[in-house]
Amino acid sequence: MRLAVAVEAPQHTGLGAPLDYLAGAPWPAGTLVRVPLGRRTVTGIVWGPAEGAAEGGAPGGDAGPVLRPVAEVLDALPPLPPAWRELVAFAAGYYQRGLGELALAVLPPELRRIDAVQLARRLKRRRLVAPAPAPADAGAAEASPALPALTPEQAAALAQLAALPAGPVLLHGVTGSGKTELYLRAAARALEAGQQVLVLVPEINLTPQLEARFAERFPGRRLVAQHSGLTPAQRLQHWLAAHLGQADLVLGTRLSVFTPLPRLGLIVVDEEHDPSFKQQDGARYSARDLAVWRAQRERVPVILGSATPSLESWQRAEEGRYARLTLAARVGGGALPRLRVFDMNRLPRDRAQQTVLAPPLQAAIEARIARGQQSLLLLNRRGYAPVLFCGACGWKSGCPHCSAWRVFHKLDRTLRCHHCGFTERVPRACPDCGNLDIAPLGRGTEKLAEQIGALLPGARIARIDADSTRLKGALEGQLAAVHAGEVDVLVGTQMVAKGHDFRRMTLVAAVNPDGALFASDFRAPERMFSLLMQAAGRAGRDAAQAGEAEMWIQTWHPTHPLYRALATHDYAAFAATQLAERRSLGLPPFCFLALLRAEAREAEVAQAFLADAAAVAAPPGLVCYAPVPPPVARVAGVERMQLLVESSSRPLLQQWLAAWVPQLHALKARHRRLLRWAVDVDPLAV
Ligand code: ADP
Ligand code: ZN
Ligand code: ZN
Repeated sequence: MRLAVAVEAPQHTGLGAPLDYLAGAPWPAGTLVRVPLGRRTVTGIVWGPAEGAAEGGAPGGDAGPVLRPVAEVLDALPPLPPAWRELVAFAAGYYQRGLGELALAVLPPELRRIDAVQLARRLKRRRLVAPAPAPADAGAAEASPALPALTPEQAAALAQLAALPAGPVLLHGVTGSGKTELYLRAAARALEAGQQVLVLVPEINLTPQLEARFAERFPGRRLVAQHSGLTPAQRLQHWLAAHLGQADLVLGTRLSVFTPLPRLGLIVVDEEHDPSFKQQDGARYSARDLAVWRAQRERVPVILGSATPSLESWQRAEEGRYARLTLAARVGGGALPRLRVFDMNRLPRDRAQQTVLAPPLQAAIEARIARGQQSLLLLNRRGYAPVLFCGACGWKSGCPHCSAWRVFHKLDRTLRCHHCGFTERVPRACPDCGNLDIAPLGRGTEKLAEQIGALLPGARIARIDADSTRLKGALEGQLAAVHAGEVDVLVGTQMVAKGHDFRRMTLVAAVNPDGALFASDFRAPERMFSLLMQAAGRAGRDAAQAGEAEMWIQTWHPTHPLYRALATHDYAAFAATQLAERRSLGLPPFCFLALLRAEAREAEVAQAFLADAAAVAAPPGLVCYAPVPPPVARVAGVERMQLLVESSSRPLLQQWLAAWVPQLHALKARHRRLLRWAVDVDPLAV
């Protein structure tokens, strides 16, 4: 008996396809096995009966024709279902990775390590610990807590949802409009029908809140989380609960899109526009896009929820390929915050550059402090200052390993590279000329918090960013202080703009958001708009105070369309202008992109590899651009170059990639000093 087994052959071997092994029995596809690979024994997944002449266990194909036998069968685990294998095969093909590599990478790490005996032990422990799966009907309804009456808008959306054929639904609703309530109602229906529900969220930080809401709503149901914050043992147990059909609800970050769910009935993608849904290394998949594919394949509904949908999803809704539901008003009728745009050109020229808070903004914050309300100041740059500078000789605090400045962190007096992590103590004097007077240039959150402290003596200031929350539990503690009203002004990065329900917050200010208006990254305006809308959503969540809620923007470009659309909370208008621009420039979603990235110690090596790659003749309808360095070309001593491939046809791009990538594996052999290369399909940053 010959079986094809998917194993995790390293990508650089170019061995993407399953390998053949001998087996004593025709184990069904999806069965987990241990097989010899080279000198190791690795976990693999039976993919079907052997087809071709591929030789198992001999990467490179240079060993003899003798097939090696499967070492062990982990048949205590039910085979991974066909739907799961199809999803994995599709993702591997679409994102140009080896099938086995991807299939194994998306299993819980623990599962890849254990043998049949250990697996049997884990499964036995499950049976002892796990409560019997809740009966699909009995009790659940009586035990349910009282439901809030739906708003007319929610009720209409829910009725529409029920009437729709299974397929993608874009739920566009401003923050606080009750999207989560709709997820809960849709989930209730699926659960009552005996189905499982998968809920994807962009960040681990956002899971506890949502988990609590689902757990409270569905007390009789088994809910498990899937994210990288769990211990390996927990991850495996949760995954097993899902795969064995015992878990009713699976809530997790992008990796959970690959959770096998035998009774899948609904997928929810919350904050579907969030870039965190795209994996940024290895198989660079988009969990949002795979969720849509999976839902269509398994004929279940998928709800994509957002206050600021991705322009890709919005365009599909415009074309009628996604159904669209809208929640235009906040629950309880709370007004969205009023936008106050402060034109920095109004300040005297010599003062404007130094101004931290424009006088009216400062007055607005002071008024809030007097009323016992909170303000949030948003600045998307951590540290004290992005660079140190010597006025005498022009020295700047560059990173010796990267083409980037090292950031000055005042608290521990370090210069830290945010790209490679290289950290040193701040020099006493300029390393080049000995000048004692080296000065910070620009402003990060640390400096902003310090300046606000000076401007608002007596105010209680807190700062939340990746630095202030490095220690475990720090974020929770800081958030608790904000919720308890122990903070008057919160300074933070985008980290605080998302999801948090700050009841006393009535002012949000972006102190310097202009950068995104002129960034080279064509998605920067989309991200900034979304961030500002989200941030605005932090203010006035308590309807009693909503009338006083304000969002402030300090800008040199007060008439920019982005701020105009923000003023009217008009996502549709913003999307329309952006999409028109993208259409005229031939950018996504009106074209499809792939990026070939290459890394080497010397830029010339990466450049030469990409030049050879680009020389493979592209068919008409597909453009291969010249290799260019990314915005930060050198990181940790490694030079990076990239090559953009563009087509207006997704199938054409896919066909080309499928033919091109195997040639790249061969090409790599001729460029020995190349460290790495990778293809990124539908890249987020180009
Ligand atoms: P979103 O997910 O769109 O931000 P939520 O579903 O979290 O909105 O709703 C915002 C707030 O309104 C929450 O506190 C929620 O409990 C409450 N809420 C939602 N729907 C209703 C309703 N129909 N009646 C009363 N309160 C509701
Ligand atoms: Zn100097
Ligand atoms: Zn560095």
